[in-house]
Amino acid sequence: MQKRETYQTGDQALVRQINLSLVMNILRTQAPISRAALAQATGLNKATVSDLVFDLMERCFVREVGMKSSGTGRPATLLTLHPAAGFIVSCEIAVDFIEVMVTDFAPDVVWQVKEKTFPEMGQQAILDRTLALLYQGIERGKASATSLFGVAIGVPGMIDSGTGTLLFAPNLGWNNVELLPFFEKANFGAPVFIENEANLAALGEHYFGAAKGYENVLYLSGNIGLGGGVVRDGHLCRGVSGVASEFGHMTMNPDGELCKCGNHGCWETQVSQKALYRYLDELIASGKKSSLVHVAGNYSVEMIVDAAKAGDEVAILAIEKTGRYLGIGIASLLNALNPELVVLGGILSLAADFLLPVVNAEIQNRALRWNRESARVVRAAHGSDACVKGGIAVVYQSVLLQANPLAILGR
Ligand SMILES: [Zn+2]
Repeated sequence: MQKRETYQTGDQALVRQINLSLVMNILRTQAPISRAALAQATGLNKATVSDLVFDLMERCFVREVGMKSSGTGRPATLLTLHPAAGFIVSCEIAVDFIEVMVTDFAPDVVWQVKEKTFPEMGQQAILDRTLALLYQGIERGKASATSLFGVAIGVPGMIDSGTGTLLFAPNLGWNNVELLPFFEKANFGAPVFIENEANLAALGEHYFGAAKGYENVLYLSGNIGLGGGVVRDGHLCRGVSGVASEFGHMTMNPDGELCKCGNHGCWETQVSQKALYRYLDELIASGKKSSLVHVAGNYSVEMIVDAAKAGDEVAILAIEKTGRYLGIGIASLLNALNPELVVLGGILSLAADFLLPVVNAEIQNRALRWNRESARVVRAAHGSDACVKGGIAVVYQSVLLQANPLAILGR
């Protein structure tokens, strides 16, 4: 009898934990919302919802924000997540900058800083500077809430999800850096999340951007290289050791250009900033006239997109060539992953007006009908903030979805 009671108590605690997660997640996506609407959205009865909301309000996770008249009967009190429930610190260590963003639980940005760096500063100096900015961010966050929910750090490389080790960051030139132990030693008093920057950006678009409301998403981001991330049923797909979604290193041309990873003809040798500049150089060398001739060797993607918008034929052809290779790869990925949305980030987003028609034509010609009919390709909502926004999302998800509310409530 004793054993059975213990078992039931455990079971009830788990159910309560799941229900708290459910209520908080509906609040995240649908607030301001009434208790009655929460009951309808969760499928729980009204008494259970009121009870859960009472608990969440007691602990400052949820607040009442006014009334809504339904036309008949009593107006309903509306609820939202409480901005002061806690704060989140997110950071990106990029090849040439460090960015830190701090939000409350709304999540509204309470502090943000971006500082220029360069790889020659050296690994230790960059990590020490990151740590100093994180401490500054935490101090700023304390002005908006007392509890720090987590610190997320995005890096442009492959992360071992078991140990939090950065295995390889080709554009930083870093190998086997024990990032998680380094940042955990800082004793932030909250969990630390280390993640690949494209994975974070994918989750950021899913939580706060173009992929909001979509559960199965392929995110591709062009920069110096080509990064990717997959959201499957609302969660990041990391693979067995955390290094999935390295789509930029799929071999697309066995005899192609040498890639930074050591292989030849990786997709990112065809679709990236470097590839775009190469196509432009080739077109100019072939004798085509372009307004970009006078800046040859000193391009920026913004410059090329502006030239294309002004009607520069060479700029348009170079972007379209990138779009063709991008579309060929996406067609295969649609067949492999069957996502409902493909989000183009980074420089792909900047050039989306010219890329999308070519990409869609390749998809039309190459993807299986059922895979292409269920997917759309869109531009990302977030630009250079995509990774830090994703870091906020990772911490958010740990609080809302991974059944952590009870642990936090018990603090
Ligand atoms: Zn490669």
